[in-house]
Amino acid sequence: EAKGQGQGRYRFYHEAQGSSRVERFTLANDLRRALEQGEFSLHYQPKIDAHTGQVCGLESLIRWQHAEYGMVSPGRFIPLAEEMGLIVPIGRWVLQEACRQMAEWQAAGMAPIRVGVNLAGPQIAHESLLEHVDQALDAAGLSPQLLDLEITESFAIRQPELTIGKLNQLRERGITLSMDDFGTGYSSLSYLKRFPIDTLKIDQSFVRDIGRDSDDEAIVRAIIVLCQSLGIKVLAEGVETDEQLQFLLRNGCSTIQGYYFSKPLPPDELFDYVMEHQ
Ligand code: C2E
Ligand code: MG
Ligand code: MG
Ligand code: MG
Repeated sequence: EAKGQGQGRYRFYHEAQGSSRVERFTLANDLRRALEQGEFSLHYQPKIDAHTGQVCGLESLIRWQHAEYGMVSPGRFIPLAEEMGLIVPIGRWVLQEACRQMAEWQAAGMAPIRVGVNLAGPQIAHESLLEHVDQALDAAGLSPQLLDLEITESFAIRQPELTIGKLNQLRERGITLSMDDFGTGYSSLSYLKRFPIDTLKIDQSFVRDIGRDSDDEAIVRAIIVLCQSLGIKVLAEGVETDEQLQFLLRNGCSTIQGYYFSKPLPPDELFDYVMEHQ
């Protein structure tokens, strides 16, 4: 009856609230030990040249296998790691592992392609970023030309002078730079000219509604034209359908990342995929 239902709802509400608080607390605690416990791994998603169907790059994406909760998505634990000051050691591990893996794959016969590594704001701000990058490349014996660093506009905009200085030093080494999630931050377009960016990644939120929302289509077209006139390469993220792909190709964007071609894959599956598409 009504009263029972009400009680049930009330209890459920509290359990739901409580469990998410407890879970967040547990996650935060466990995050401190996840690195030394070896619970992180990297998956890799191919970036495809849609004209040829060939793999033209990869993006490394961190995965956390939690003993109790299973796979925890980076969308949940990366912000937590940033808050807790853990993103620098975790990000450093990602750099080392991605470089090591690329060197291993090359030795196994994979053609040289670039690997993208996501950098969080605090990593860019950290005094040892360049040292960490150099060490990761040296330890793996990987050419800097095969590393692409993905940064988001929100951080870049908060500390433009610092960011531009570091980005230029990275580029002097031959490392390339991508602006991730473009269009979701608060960047003024003039920053695009000032940041030494090689590739701009159109955020998947604009790609999602291609074919349904003419405003998003207009934004995607405008970003592509902007990149063309600024001499920046452009990639579309989150491409899932043939309709999205055809729209992007018609409008001059042929570098594609998304489930349409492949989800992020564990290393052994990624190796097979690239060997079939190179
Ligand atoms: P991101 O760098 O923008 O990565 C793209 C995200 O979109 C990935 O989610 C990828 O799995 C997902 N994705 C790719 N194709 C599609 C598609 O066709 N449809 C849909 N719906 N999604 C697609 P993921 O792996 O969960 O990562 C989420 C975010 O977590 C990343 O966004 C990035 O901001 C962050 N992240 C992941 N790995 C790292 C890392 O090693 N370091 C740092 N600092 N951040 C990371
Ligand atoms: Mg990225
Ligand atoms: Mg992105
Ligand atoms: Mg994103």
